[in-house]
Formats: sequence, structure tokens, C-alpha cells
Amino acid sequence: MRIMVIGGGGREHAIVWALNKSDKVKQIYCAPGNAGIAELAECVPIPVNRFGDLIQFACDNAIDLVVVGPDDPLADGIVDAFEERNIPIFGPRKNAAAIEGSKIFMKDLLKAYNIPTAKYESFTDYEAALAYLRQQSAPIVVKADGLAAGKGVTVAFTIEEAENALREMMVEKVFGESGGSIVIEEFLEGQEMSILAFVDGETVRAMVPAQDHKPVFDDDKGPNTGGMGTYSPLPHIDPALVEDAIENIIKPTAKAMVSEGRPFRGVLFAGLIMTKDGVKTIEFNARMGDPETQVVLPRLKTDLVDIILAALNGRLDAIDIEWSDEAAVCVVAASGGYPGPYPTGQVIKGLDAAKAQGALVFHAGTAESNGDIVTNGGRVLGIVGCGRDIAEARARAYEAAAVISYEGMHIRSDIAAKALQGANS
Ligand code: AMP
Repeated sequence: MRIMVIGGGGREHAIVWALNKSDKVKQIYCAPGNAGIAELAECVPIPVNRFGDLIQFACDNAIDLVVVGPDDPLADGIVDAFEERNIPIFGPRKNAAAIEGSKIFMKDLLKAYNIPTAKYESFTDYEAALAYLRQQSAPIVVKADGLAAGKGVTVAFTIEEAENALREMMVEKVFGESGGSIVIEEFLEGQEMSILAFVDGETVRAMVPAQDHKPVFDDDKGPNTGGMGTYSPLPHIDPALVEDAIENIIKPTAKAMVSEGRPFRGVLFAGLIMTKDGVKTIEFNARMGDPETQVVLPRLKTDLVDIILAALNGRLDAIDIEWSDEAAVCVVAASGGYPGPYPTGQVIKGLDAAKAQGALVFHAGTAESNGDIVTNGGRVLGIVGCGRDIAEARARAYEAAAVISYEGMHIRSDIAAKALQGANS
């Protein structure tokens, strides 16, 4: 098969890596890809939002299957555009991708179908939102309705902080139209977990769970990022809670989407929080998570191509999906300054040494420049260690991270620490 992957981050590198293991795959293209992906696939310099050019490339190169990584093209209808041309593509159509593209749509859906989530109100009018906010108590959460590159959520610990977020979103429009409508939501306390699932209509095949670390600094300090590290499995989490989330949140949501005439086909990602009143939904994403994918796919034993083809043929219920018992830990190496402004073009050293140690090094923001691999984004690399358990996987990830260097390189030193404490207690 000739496969085209859309996107160019760490998630897409992990997807390309997993697809490349399949003996059904003859050639992989990736648009636009990055310097790491270029080792496994032919990178094509077409931006992810140029549907016409992507379709033309797929036609010219007899592409058999397209796999979409990022949220923006899904929300804009890339799947519908390829389907119109009868090119097989794995991902939700625009009307199903709305589960991520509009927080208000998602919250209203969950409320209508009694699926556990934080209490909320939504607003399109700034004065009304402000008046409501002033009647609430902190902590409280303010969310832009639309996509905002993972930055549209403010967890406010004072009402003043929440008011500032509201003003930035609705008046100053820092997220453009994405913040024209907003959600004000109850603050939930508890550990978070991510469950990704292959979904085709009502059929849900959950992947192994993972945990992300959003804040930029150790001990969850500093502003939220796209994700600074992940690990899987979650030895400190009761498996009954994972089952609870699959049965009472993900499956009912897939069913609700079918009932609404928006059947979801693709990877549905549930961001969950385990409160003392049970597991509740924080968010749904309409695609694989980044950097969750980097620890989940290394544990997948079944051929990813077979799973995708089963989903496209409506036979997801019939395929055996096997997971390895090994653990995986991903430490994200970011550019100094991220998630604020950061320099690019810093030469990255030690990539081969890290790989020689057995680590998987997934590239996120990298580029090739005069024979060097250089930084080209906020999150630069996802350094993944695998092992018998979290302790071994974690040690391997950090050993590999220690041999990689570039000016301003920042990593958190406490990725998966919670899992170790939990496992020992
Ligand atoms: P999201 O982009 O919706 O995943 O939100 C980003 C992060 O904000 C989540 O991973 C949580 O850490 C936090 N968050 C979002 N909603 C809530 C909530 N209702 N209560 C507490 N934390 C939240």
C-alpha cells in the first residue's frame, strides 16, 4: 500500500513509525513531515490545510490510504474532501470532528445524553459571561469554544484571573473567532488520564490508557503546554476506573454521535479526570493525542494498518487488537521559552547516541539545515524509553534524554514520577 500521513509533529512521527512496521506498506508519504519522519517517509512540503493540493498529490501518487494526525484539518473537513474524491481516509468527518472543534457542542451533547462531565454554562455575550462569573467562586475554568492550539483553557485560581481570561478571549480576541463563544466550567479535582479509542460508529476499541503532563515545569508548575511527557500503562490507577470510563463515557458518547447523525470514525480521545464522585470528561479530541500517541503506539502489537482497514470496512468489532505488557515513557524536549516565544535553528546533538541506547526518538519541531538537524518548534523531540515496567522505561527515557543536547533544551524531570510513587505506596 501507498499511504499518506497528514501532519508533521511527534504524533505523526509515531504514526509513521507504526505504519512502517506493517508488511502491507510499500511507501509512506508525509505532508509536511519533519526531519525525523524523513528517515521513514518521503516528506512532501504541502501544508495540512491545502486540501486541493493534498488531494492532487494523492491522485498523482496512487495513494491507497490517508491517515490524518492534527485537529485543524479534521475540523475543517479534510475527510469529507477526500471522501468526495473516493480516496480512503481515516479520521472523522467535519460533523463528527465538531466534538473537538466546539466545546459547546461537546458539552451540550454530554449533558443531553447524561454522560459525566463538569457542570458548565456557555456564553456568546461578554457582559452575560462576566455577570455569571462574578456569581461563581474560584477555582473555576474558562474555555474558548473553538480550537486554540491547546491554549484556549484557563484554570483560574481567582475570579480576577478568570475575568482576565474572559476579557482576553471575548474582547481582545486573542484566539480570534475561537473565543467568540466560551464555556465557564466547574473546576474538577483529581488525577487525569487519557484514553484513546479506535471508533467506527458505535464500535469502540479502547487503546491502553496514558497520562500526560501539561504544565511546562516540574510539579505541574508554570503555564500549560501541548504536553511535556506521557507514560503508559498507569500502574497506580485502579483498572476498574479505566473500564468505567470506557463503558460509561466513551461508548455512550460514540452512541450519542450516531444518534445525532454524526457517526464518528477515527480515533476518539477522551481527556478524563478521576474525581471523588467518579470519572468525568474534561474534553474529547477527534484524533490521536500528542504526546500520548508516542507511548501508546509502541505498545501496540497488532498491525496498525489492519486496524485502520477494519475501521474503514466497518469491521472494527471483528479484529483482535493486542497490546504489549511493556511500559513506555515519553519525555518531551522543548525549546527554552516554550510555551512563550523561543528561538529556532539550534543544532541538536546526540540523536544517534540516544537511538543506539535503544530509545525511540520521535521528532516534533525539527528541520534539516545544512546537514544538521535543528530545532524548529516549541516541542522539539519526544524521547521514549520502553521497559518491563514504568521504572525501567522511565530510566531509559531519561538516559537517552541525557545524551541529547541543544541550546536552551528544556525537559521536565518528573515525568511518570506519580506512577512510581503510586506503585510503591
Ligand atoms: P483541555 O485543553 O480541555 O484538555 O484542558 C487543558 C487542561 O486544563 C486539562 O488537561 C486539565 O488539566 C485542565 N482542565 C480543563 N478543564 C478542567 C476542569 N473542569 N477542572 C480542572 N482542570 C481542568
